[in-house]
Amino acid sequence: MTDRKSELAENLARVEERISSACAAAGRARDEVTLIVVTKTHPASDVRLLAELGVRHVAENRDQDAAPKAAACADLPLTWHFVGQLQTNKARSVAGYAHVVQSVDRPRLVTALSAAAEQSGRELGCLVQIALDAESGERGSRGGAAAEQLAELADLVAGAPGLRIDGVMTVAPLVGPYAGRERAAFERLVELSSRLRGDHPAATMVSAGMSADLEEAVAAGATHVRVGTAVLGARPRLG
Ligand SMILES: *Cc1c(COP(=O)(O)O)cnc(C)c1O
Repeated sequence: MTDRKSELAENLARVEERISSACAAAGRARDEVTLIVVTKTHPASDVRLLAELGVRHVAENRDQDAAPKAAACADLPLTWHFVGQLQTNKARSVAGYAHVVQSVDRPRLVTALSAAAEQSGRELGCLVQIALDAESGERGSRGGAAAEQLAELADLVAGAPGLRIDGVMTVAPLVGPYAGRERAAFERLVELSSRLRGDHPAATMVSAGMSADLEEAVAAGATHVRVGTAVLGARPRLG
């Protein structure tokens, strides 16, 4: 094994151990939680090594970086998640490689993604990104819709050709009532998810938790954790 591959294997084993322990502590089965490795800022060669090590879900947050990387890795059995703030003029590119867009946060983006999905003849899974620091009608500082907008956005996605409503996503907020209270923030997301499933029973994904707070996310009931740094190491540049 190359040095990089051994390093990634060791990091993955440590993250796997953290997820397993968190599941055991919460009385959950390990297979209730899916690991998504956030590969942003890291090269396609790392994505390839991760796939060889058994990773099946990767995430990116900038289309400029993600599009060439996904093209270079098109032969790998990977599910690509898009997790960044997304401009409508990038929807067409993202719909060309992403399987799931986790950052759906406004009606105009739903329209753009639907048109793009139809054009490329693909079906796109969508998560509504909730900003727990946004007031009603606003968007959060890092993207995301206010909780009050979830039902309307989910209905829009469900009715849009080429799109599928898969669930909800959040990033633990740095400001507002949930700042520093990751567990409470993720529990709020799970509560919103239960409400969403009343109308859309198949929308079961709850994407929450990163390198620093994956245990809190698993404890709260997340189905997907998005882990970058703990697997790949520090990012070469801000991303
Ligand atoms: C970068 C990123 C992650 C991963 O963060 P780490 O702290 O490196 O694990 C998760 N989710 C989103 C939306 C991100 O942008």
